[in-house]
Amino acid sequence: MTAPAAPATDAAAVAATAARAHTLAELEAGIVACRACPRLVAWREQVARERRAAFATEEYWGAPIPGFGDPAARVLIFGLAPAAHGGNRTGRVFTGDRSGDWLFASLHRTGFANQPTSVHRDDGLRLHDAWIAAAVRCAPPANRPTPGERDTCLPWSVRELELLPAVRLIVCLGGFAWDAALRLRRAAGLETPRPRPRFGHDALFDPGDRLPLLGCFHPSQQNTFTGRLTEPMMDAVFARARERVAR
Ligand code: SF4
Repeated sequence: MTAPAAPATDAAAVAATAARAHTLAELEAGIVACRACPRLVAWREQVARERRAAFATEEYWGAPIPGFGDPAARVLIFGLAPAAHGGNRTGRVFTGDRSGDWLFASLHRTGFANQPTSVHRDDGLRLHDAWIAAAVRCAPPANRPTPGERDTCLPWSVRELELLPAVRLIVCLGGFAWDAALRLRRAAGLETPRPRPRFGHDALFDPGDRLPLLGCFHPSQQNTFTGRLTEPMMDAVFARARERVAR
């Protein structure tokens, strides 16, 4: 990571700092320093101070989580936000929680990840042809960012997408990510028809431009414990993603 950026402390500063980033490393430095959403800054830091009993001896990350993966990725995997005791603890997206276990096992089975687990930032995990990011980069209370927080955070993703020129498909993990990805498309100058395409598992929105969306239920415990999302269902989405970008 490059030298720490001056923290962005409001939406205008996020947009300006993101636009100035010339590399993924510069963007990462800007994201990690960001303090633009007071409610989320307070929450992420409170969680990091108080910790869950199981992780009481660990030093929590307690800061925004940058994207992670292959800079030559053709597939962008877009999630909701870091988990309070997952990414907010370990400092890497979808790392150290059950959702990450589920996601990376599937990415390993479908050839996007070199290993099926994602435990901590130095665990050797590498992605091939995939980049993972959250629409909102800080852990929100109850996993629910506000629309204002979503919009404030969006410029980080807009610039990230510009710095990932090979991306040709966004896999959206859940409806929140789908909506944020539609906003990403708009920021990239791409049209979205009205009524807007609806999120669904394995739903493809392909208007014939350079950035189609593919929906996937979020691998939250709420979905995986109840069987709403199964391993074959998630593998099928990533297999389809691979097949789409290989055309
Ligand atoms: Fe900054 Fe995004 Fe975190 Fe808000 S959610 S403080 S914009 S990184």
